[in-house]
Amino acid sequence: ATPAATMVGSTLSATNGVLFKGGDVLEQVRGIDTIVFDKTGTLTHGEMVLTDVELVGERAATDGGTDATPDGGVLEPPSSGEDALESFVLGAAASAESGSEHPIARAIVEGADDRGVEIGGVSEFENVPGQGVRAKTDRGTVLIGRRKLLEDSGIDTGPAEGPLTRLEREGKTAMPVAIDGELQGVLAVADEVRESARETAAALLERGSEVVMLTGDNERTARAVAEQVGIDPDNVRAEVLPEDKADHVEELQAGGARVMMVGDGVNDAPALTTAQVGVAIGSGTDVAIESADVTLMRDDPADVLKAVRISEATISKVR
Ligand code: ADP
Ligand code: MG
Repeated sequence: ATPAATMVGSTLSATNGVLFKGGDVLEQVRGIDTIVFDKTGTLTHGEMVLTDVELVGERAATDGGTDATPDGGVLEPPSSGEDALESFVLGAAASAESGSEHPIARAIVEGADDRGVEIGGVSEFENVPGQGVRAKTDRGTVLIGRRKLLEDSGIDTGPAEGPLTRLEREGKTAMPVAIDGELQGVLAVADEVRESARETAAALLERGSEVVMLTGDNERTARAVAEQVGIDPDNVRAEVLPEDKADHVEELQAGGARVMMVGDGVNDAPALTTAQVGVAIGSGTDVAIESADVTLMRDDPADVLKAVRISEATISKVR
């Protein structure tokens, strides 16, 4: 791009809430034919709310468990009462999640708080990116996240499959919870699709672009959200690990696509860099914004369309 194009582009961008990192970006945006959206925090608000707490496994059916005799600072599960058991599981999960900044973690902590469930301390905490968390809490060692996280520790998530599947079909993100190596329950969080996501996808499709969803979330949840947004189920790439997001972009590019990746998270950063154009949601993580060529200051997916129109208008005006 010429210096003039750069100038016109930045001027326009300032008034439109779309920030371009230099004039070359305008040219790149113009050639884009495939727009890849991250789900959580990009197509959705990323403000998750805890919606469900369900007991699974032996505790759900029986009043099994030991008496409440705190031993060595570790709280034992209550011996009976469904509410008390739910509170125990939620409290354990929230304690574990108190060490994480993930939107899911915040929803669980807030949900516990709202329900008057006490959140305890964490002595050891491990964030497993794109999978969940593992933490030593005052209620035992907690594992919460994707099925795989528990399975990899030798915990059978089979008994949780019923509630997990049902909640995922509702478009919720459902997670099994294990305490001290035993499956105990399922938590679910839900997130609202951003108002303009649907009309933006429709306008991009109208323009002749491919619209793709790339998410670490479960296939069923992803498809339920894609349906709400109007994205073709065949264009949903779900259960993608953070380190693999960039590979999916590369794969599309190898097939000849010119890709714009839109994301907000730390896990989107490599994909934002790999794509011809990386677009960050303004309220997203610093890493995403640093990795992106364009930042949407208003967090509005509709501004993706605006970026495309600005680039088209600017380039044709200057030439
Ligand atoms: P996305 O790509 O949709 O932004 P992530 O890659 O951050 O999602 O996470 C993928 C999946 O890993 C989540 O849907 C969830 O099942 C699990 N997960 C990630 N972080 C956490 C956490 N802090 N607690 C529980 N589960 C988590
Ligand atoms: Mg995200």
